[in-house]
Amino acid sequence: MLYKNFEEYNIDVTEEVKEKFESIIENLGEDVKREGIVKTPERAAKAMQFLTQGYHQDPADILKGAMFKEDYDDMVIVKDIELYSLCEHHMLPFFGKAHIAYIPNGHIVGLSKLPRIVDVFARRLQVQERLTHDILECINNTLKPKGVAVVIEASHMCMMMRGVQKQNSVTTTSGFRGQFEKIETRTEFLRLITADLG
Ligand SMILES: [Zn+2]
Repeated sequence: MLYKNFEEYNIDVTEEVKEKFESIIENLGEDVKREGIVKTPERAAKAMQFLTQGYHQDPADILKGAMFKEDYDDMVIVKDIELYSLCEHHMLPFFGKAHIAYIPNGHIVGLSKLPRIVDVFARRLQVQERLTHDILECINNTLKPKGVAVVIEASHMCMMMRGVQKQNSVTTTSGFRGQFEKIETRTEFLRLITADLG
């Protein structure tokens, strides 16, 4: 995927978050002056800014920048979009795949933009349900297609590493608008994303 890495960190935010991380690491029982860890608070502060950069990006703008007039009116599907996010309850990762489909209504969108808006919404503190809904509504409101569908399958580290330790559980969420609210269209979409086309 071709898009710019987030390399510019806000100096004030980095400094502030770094100090907090020093305190967190000490409180957890680690020696923050130890050689291997002395730069960890700064690295963690930068990593967290990277992982939450979606707060500073406008997904609707990304879609609007790549909309083209086109008469095509069959289903467009982008499946198996890699997804990495942070759960807002524990700030631990959840990750998996998103599958998106829409039925154009006079406009199509550059296909690479769909994975980008997944990233923009995923790089915030999220719950999987809202992430699904955010992507769905953004496409629906911006592209105004005849229908849009989003399915996300994800594993949550907060479930896998702690608490119930259900290590193989996958959570599936979905949302449908317009023509995908009809059972036949929805079934066709679900068949296509689960089919092995290889
Ligand atoms: Zn969680």
